[in-house]
Amino acid sequence: MRIDVVTLFPEFVRQCAEIGVVGRAQRRGLLQVATWNPRDFATDAHRTVDGRPCGGGPGMVMRIEPLRTALAAMRQADPAPAHVIYLSPQGARLTQGRVAALAGMPRIALLCGRYEGVDERLLAHEVDEELSIGDYVLSGGELAAAVLIDAVGRLQEGALNDAQSATQDSFTDGLLDCPHYAKPLHDPYGDVPAVLQGGDHAAIRRWRLKQSLGRTWLRRPDLLSQCVLDEESRALLDE
Ligand code: SAM
Repeated sequence: MRIDVVTLFPEFVRQCAEIGVVGRAQRRGLLQVATWNPRDFATDAHRTVDGRPCGGGPGMVMRIEPLRTALAAMRQADPAPAHVIYLSPQGARLTQGRVAALAGMPRIALLCGRYEGVDERLLAHEVDEELSIGDYVLSGGELAAAVLIDAVGRLQEGALNDAQSATQDSFTDGLLDCPHYAKPLHDPYGDVPAVLQGGDHAAIRRWRLKQSLGRTWLRRPDLLSQCVLDEESRALLDE
């Protein structure tokens, strides 16, 4: 998969994409992250990328031209079609389901806003989708882009050392994940639950499923209305 990022802070995005699982995915050739700085495409002496808002008001707005040229350069470097996403607090809220769908695409491009945002005409002509990482306002789209790159990158086949871990994460089956423990079994902070100390795998699966259901009910009851347990899970609970 290829992810192109249009950003005024390419070093930040590149560094985020070089660490941990996503960095490993890049080194394994599963993911390629490229950055495009609109300032490199500004034509005036000061490399201006922003302008005063038409109609007055506070702040600045990202101008059309440097962004349009950056996107054109991105397409020229690789003509494969890219699904263009504008990171925006006004976009649809990012979910694990959307992340999984994006992870299956061969190429996406992320447009990071700054200031008051991006000229609306560029968004209307260039952007396929707007996504928000939550109901709060960041000063720029770079952190949101890094979130998206991480979430999508770790789902690339072969990125995680144990492919199963992604299938057991929160939201993947509609529920929150169960609690996890590592050795020592006994510690001043408490004991590892007895069922996890034995080798009864069906009992462990049942315990984990019940913990997931309980946690989801307590912490995110909204998820339960959309969750459909698979046959194996239903059979476990019936036992
Ligand atoms: N004036 C805009 C508004 O109220 O909708 C906010 C602009 S914000 C200060 C600057 C940039 O940060 C945005 O263009 C967007 O790219 C990014 N951004 C801010 N909050 C975000 C969020 N919750 N999710 C994704 N991107 C966000």
